[in-house]
Amino acid sequence: MTVTASDAHSPPRCGTPATRALWAPSAAPSIASAILRRGRPYRIGARRSPPDGHLVPPERADIHSNPSRLVEVNGMHMYAGDRLEGSFARSRASDQITDAGEALKNSIARAPQSMRLYEYEGKLLFSSAGIKVPGQVLLRTPEDAERAAGSAKYPVVLKAQVLVGGRGKAGGVKIARNPDEFVRYAREILNMTIRGEKVAAVLAADYVDIERELYLSIIVDRSTRKYIILHSDKGGVDIEEVARQSPEHIFRTAFDPFVGIKEYHAREVARNLGLGAQFTGRVLDLLRKMYEGVMLRYDADLVEINPLAVSGQELIPVDAKVTIDDNAQEPVVEELKRVLGRDPSEGEVHEFNYVKLDGYIGIIGNGAGLTMATMDEVQRFGGKPADFLDIGGGAERGIVKDATKLLLSDPDVKAIFINILGGITRCDEVASGVVEALGESRDKKPIVIRLVGTNEEEGRRILERAGISYYTEMDEAAQAAVRAAGVA
Ligand code: GDP
Ligand code: MN
Repeated sequence: MTVTASDAHSPPRCGTPATRALWAPSAAPSIASAILRRGRPYRIGARRSPPDGHLVPPERADIHSNPSRLVEVNGMHMYAGDRLEGSFARSRASDQITDAGEALKNSIARAPQSMRLYEYEGKLLFSSAGIKVPGQVLLRTPEDAERAAGSAKYPVVLKAQVLVGGRGKAGGVKIARNPDEFVRYAREILNMTIRGEKVAAVLAADYVDIERELYLSIIVDRSTRKYIILHSDKGGVDIEEVARQSPEHIFRTAFDPFVGIKEYHAREVARNLGLGAQFTGRVLDLLRKMYEGVMLRYDADLVEINPLAVSGQELIPVDAKVTIDDNAQEPVVEELKRVLGRDPSEGEVHEFNYVKLDGYIGIIGNGAGLTMATMDEVQRFGGKPADFLDIGGGAERGIVKDATKLLLSDPDVKAIFINILGGITRCDEVASGVVEALGESRDKKPIVIRLVGTNEEEGRRILERAGISYYTEMDEAAQAAVRAAGVA
């Protein structure tokens, strides 16, 4: 279910008490305006500076004197500009704890952190690992676009470079068929803000003929000390929805780091992806490059391709998402700095749909429908929601952390109920976000979580170490939240 601004004009025909409360006349002034504000969602966090000249290795420093020059790195073309200098170091959440207990401190210190890379950066790492990616040119200004438009081979895909997901759905991916469209779309995208994040640059990528969109990623499962090849034959922009509605299309193949990726893993993955036996070799090659060439080489904790395009006999990564473990070894960090030419650990910006209500139980959910259902459930057990806070489809750690901090700082909130339902969503990431928020906030409040998704075990462990109640059933969690608030 989605809510749009126009919904605010008429009350829903169906729904439950809390859902209808959003439209109730008594609450009209603040709530209606808040809902109408939904087009301009709540923003929190620090501004991240745009990537800049990142792709120039030091030995090509001559390029800096001519910022408009196209340079080739790892077989891909980029406009070079000034390099960003900066330290890779960032304060860990544990450094910021002032008054939290020792147990909490330990759990935060152990909670994994990671740095996110832009799509073009991920593809650069792919390319360095020998994974063929569509040709790409990075555009930072409309002038870059004008220069590139004339020599481009059409159609060209223009893609917003932001660290949040869901660009396609937000209009941040457009296909240009001629130079006019190229310049027009590039300008449009450069001016966009996607889920609170200002577009840093536009990537012009070679168009891929896509027959089928697959999902393929490698993640770390800390609870079993193994890696998981997460994959789906229904990749693309709706992967979170697929995970929720048809989890039978999400597959997990675990492998042991001491064994590595073997042919039988690739055979299983290829079969699940609906690929013929002739693809086994290609899948094996791709998986090994993702694992050895990206994951191990750069200390990544996530290497994700969505979609992985089936195009004739080829498998082509159309998108790339890589996150780097914040505890990456020094030589790795140096290598990354050299390849990317920027500090990927700067502050991030997050935005979510937030409506303040007059109750006392803070509500966080992913997706408008789930968030409303969560409010209803709290109401059913005699509690009053303090807000409607929807962090959107996939729950990422930074967003969860900012949302939790926001509610922790609200004096009306007596307890917080976080309800995250996903399949691709990583519970360990969500859990770390919540624990980090608690560590960084002065206000300590009871938090109740219902969490379903990938890496549930590890998520549960992170929460338990921090003394946070964990549930898999929504009604039990709702009751616990009402009890924890101690008001009703
Ligand atoms: P995201 O929405 O942020 O994940 O951005 P993606 O890079 O994954 O692109 C979103 C969608 O745009 C993809 O799932 C494709 O359907 C479409 N798309 C992107 N690039 C291409 C391309 O080169 N060719 C075709 N046919 N579709 C593309
Ligand atoms: Mn994608």
